[in-house]
Amino acid sequence: MAYHLLQRDQAGAARLAAALTQALGKILHCEKCNSYAEAVVCELCSSPRRDSALLCVVETPGDLLMMEQAQCYQGLYFVLMGVLSPLDGIGPREINVDRLIRRATDGMVREVILATNFTVEGEATAHYIGEALRARGLTVTRIARGLPVGGEIEYVDSGTLAQAVVERREV
Ligand SMILES: [Zn+2]
Repeated sequence: MAYHLLQRDQAGAARLAAALTQALGKILHCEKCNSYAEAVVCELCSSPRRDSALLCVVETPGDLLMMEQAQCYQGLYFVLMGVLSPLDGIGPREINVDRLIRRATDGMVREVILATNFTVEGEATAHYIGEALRARGLTVTRIARGLPVGGEIEYVDSGTLAQAVVERREV
């Protein structure tokens, strides 16, 4: 991409560089969902049209975007910004589990939907978070396995993803 821009579109390269620099200076993590935001609380979290009784846990902002494009879900989100991966030194603290627990126990959330990937790390993360939240009296569900085993949410078609959300089950 860098070579293409340098060879064929230097003005575009300058615009992209400026946009990235601006984003680096302005982008924060939303106080509620932990996704990228330009304000303390992002647009999605402040929307009165979203169902605040539902909280969907995803690994990345890209996964959140896919969920939104599938138009199958009206609740709110929490973005972990990763998955548990002990070999890489990524534990509960690195993926903000404490913040998720505080967010999920705000008194409004009734159901937490675990939508981490169906990879080994994603499943382990869902299991860990599920146990922690169930111990606090919350209903915890996992999206159904409409996705291929080992697949990643960011890359599946919207229909498959929507089916998986419709068929979610309690863990
Ligand atoms: Zn937010």
